[in-house]
Amino acid sequence: MRNAPRLIGLSRRGLILSGAGLLAAPLALAEGVPDGESPANPAAVRRKPVHRAQPKPHAAEGHAAPTDHDGEAASSPEEAMQRLMAGNARYVSARATHPNLDAARRQLVASGQHPFASILACADSRVAPELIFDQGLGDLFVVRVAGNVVDDAILASIEYSVIHLGSTLVMVLGHERCGAVKATVDALAGHPSEEDADTRIGALAKLIAPAVKAVPINTVDVVDSAVSLNATNTAVEIFAGSRPLRERVLAGKLRIVSARYDLDDGRVSPTRGDPKMLMTSLG
Ligand SMILES: [Zn+2]
Repeated sequence: MRNAPRLIGLSRRGLILSGAGLLAAPLALAEGVPDGESPANPAAVRRKPVHRAQPKPHAAEGHAAPTDHDGEAASSPEEAMQRLMAGNARYVSARATHPNLDAARRQLVASGQHPFASILACADSRVAPELIFDQGLGDLFVVRVAGNVVDDAILASIEYSVIHLGSTLVMVLGHERCGAVKATVDALAGHPSEEDADTRIGALAKLIAPAVKAVPINTVDVVDSAVSLNATNTAVEIFAGSRPLRERVLAGKLRIVSARYDLDDGRVSPTRGDPKMLMTSLG
């Protein structure tokens, strides 16, 4: 994936690689929108949630099927999305319950993990998924990297969380005033930070650049627009880059969504308008 083409505003090689499956990507992404503003993925809607087999007793860590104990039901993508957004609502309204953090929970998950959702978030210190979604130990499989970009190692981590741990929701989470996105905007505008010379920070900017370039002209807040586009771009790359994940999405067993975190009010919102733009780019 390191040299894989980005899918927004770039070459169409990625589209060719992913074939017809990519056509469903914007719909699959839009399906995660809670308010139903965007079109749903018909294939996913038609199918009822698929629940997994019962867990094996004392199954090895990391390879157990999801269990039904202690509220840890093998959740559907819809249930996972609702659980995430309900947690964020508690956090936003200062009613966080900080669940699943006691010694009993620690003991329960010590022998196996069954996270209900996987989050690819920016490494920014203000965007800790367990906190902003009010979740506890064993609830979320979290991958974090500045700019919430994806490469081979990150994609492999996400695949592992879905295929081996049973996660049914993958959320790419960008955030307001992302420093990595801002640095990319500055670099593309011809004002790279001198402090970044001889660093590997340019490698991040390279992955974020397609989203920045896809920001419509005359956009007032270029960074914020790029944050949303970058999150969507990464979500589509996950979809396009993994056949097993793509098959799960098309079968209604998995959702891959993108969202933006607001640093000021703490709210997580699905990125909007992007699926339509992607459809246009597929033209
Ligand atoms: Zn960031």
